[in-house]
Amino acid sequence: MSKIVKQVEASNLNYVDSFGSKKNLKSKPARRFAILTCMDARLDPAKFAGLVEGDAHVIRNAGGRASEDAIRSLLISYKLLDTKEWFVVHHTGCGMEAVTNEEINEIFGIKTSSNINWLTFNDNKKSLVEDVLTLRNHPLVPKSIPIYGYIYNCSNGRLEEVQEATQAGQPK
Ligand code: ZN
Repeated sequence: MSKIVKQVEASNLNYVDSFGSKKNLKSKPARRFAILTCMDARLDPAKFAGLVEGDAHVIRNAGGRASEDAIRSLLISYKLLDTKEWFVVHHTGCGMEAVTNEEINEIFGIKTSSNINWLTFNDNKKSLVEDVLTLRNHPLVPKSIPIYGYIYNCSNGRLEEVQEATQAGQPK
């Protein structure tokens, strides 16, 4: 068993010891909101947004992009599990801003363009606005859901709202 597996299993046993009333949590998020954000290990949405178990949906991928699968999850989040507000949170120093699709293809040794769109970007604010607009303009996303755009600052933990993104995500 790897060291990591041992650590994870030991930590989980500690968690189980203090699990208590969490067994009564409902699957619908109690605070009725969802966060789409990057998988970057420096970001802990539970901490930066004050979440406890049962509070909200957190959907993560490389870059916090509004990918097909992120959209799938958000649609389920709203339609089946009643979330009413969504946050899209990018962050400073994102790895997806540091590379291009071509460079990632090269790293994988893919000569021709692969069928994976790596969803890299070179302008964080612009890509955030794009992601919010992708969600806002999706035919199955209800016009009533406000979508807020933020960039998390990895140097101080602050969520900085990007007005243009939040503006783009206003209910219609
Ligand atoms: Zn990132």
